[in-house]
Amino acid sequence: MRDQFGRSIEYLRISVTDRCNFRCVYCMPEQGLAWLPKQQILSYEEIADVVRQLAPLGLRRLRITGGEPTVRPELPELIRMLRVIPGIEDIALSTNGVKLPQMAATLREAGLDRVNMSADSLRTERIAAIARRNLAFDPIVAARAASDVGLDPIKLNVVMIRGENDDEVEDFAALTREHAWHVRFIELMPVGDLADTEFARVVPSDEVLARIEARFGALEPSDGPAKGNGPARYRRIPGARGTIGVITPLTHTYCDSCNRVRLTADGRLRTCLYGDHEVNLRDALRAGEPLRPLFERALAEKPREHELLKLRVGGLKALSEVGG
Ligand code: SAM
Ligand code: SF4
Repeated sequence: MRDQFGRSIEYLRISVTDRCNFRCVYCMPEQGLAWLPKQQILSYEEIADVVRQLAPLGLRRLRITGGEPTVRPELPELIRMLRVIPGIEDIALSTNGVKLPQMAATLREAGLDRVNMSADSLRTERIAAIARRNLAFDPIVAARAASDVGLDPIKLNVVMIRGENDDEVEDFAALTREHAWHVRFIELMPVGDLADTEFARVVPSDEVLARIEARFGALEPSDGPAKGNGPARYRRIPGARGTIGVITPLTHTYCDSCNRVRLTADGRLRTCLYGDHEVNLRDALRAGEPLRPLFERALAEKPREHELLKLRVGGLKALSEVGG
């Protein structure tokens, strides 16, 4: 499966819901976002059908995302259905971690391989401020719950926001000395109406790395976790168990190695996070038509790169719409 620029596409990010138990300041508006009606959302059987049709074309790795995927009822059932599809080698979950302490074991038993957990702060009150929900949530407890049941690797995603959590860079980096976790600092990506203010709050990843080196000494190069699909570049504090990654959509783009497409909760296949390149798979699926021609058309139109640096965010209102 190659796109018009010869990039091999083997990774599908599946958003299973647009809903969330958080309202992160950079991801969703606090209010006024209308939820998709239930009949527009793909059923688990329909999602599995999409994967069954794409696996023979070369799809190998899946990520379940959202919104917050763990708020959709019976999520382990979907994992069970995807796990048995021939060709699928890796199933990962992106979550804010709130439900991991109660769900990690069931998800693992269902066949989940690994998790990426959002963790924008290590301070409870600050998490509540960024998430705009006070759930008294401890990300360390959640990450431990995931690693205790054998989910591996554990990646923690930290969206850096100037003036909000950038004073915790060193605390997050220090976590990798004690735990075999992979802490990834993500540059804030502008979306929707927030775009203008967000550009001003981006913390360039080079600045993050310089601060870590000022505290812990020169970082060593690292290949990062064994199962990596994506754009992060990794380093390690000498002697640390885990690694430090940076994801740099703004300061160093990585579109030339993009290996992914996205399925929205309502069944649109998006070939770029930004821009409006998408095809509607749901209607074809419900009409009993094969998806392959649509998929091939989508790949033929996948753009070379996003246009964020030209301040173009496309029609994207919130990353929760497309799963990040
Ligand atoms: N709810 C899950 C979570 O928080 O991990 C999965 C969905 S969330 C949309 C996926 C990822 O997108 C998270 O790591 C989140 O931090 C990231 N994200 C959301 N909005 C973002 C933004 N404006 N800039 C950078 N990353 C963002
Ligand atoms: Fe919800 Fe994840 Fe978006 Fe936060 S980043 S609002 S947890 S979907």
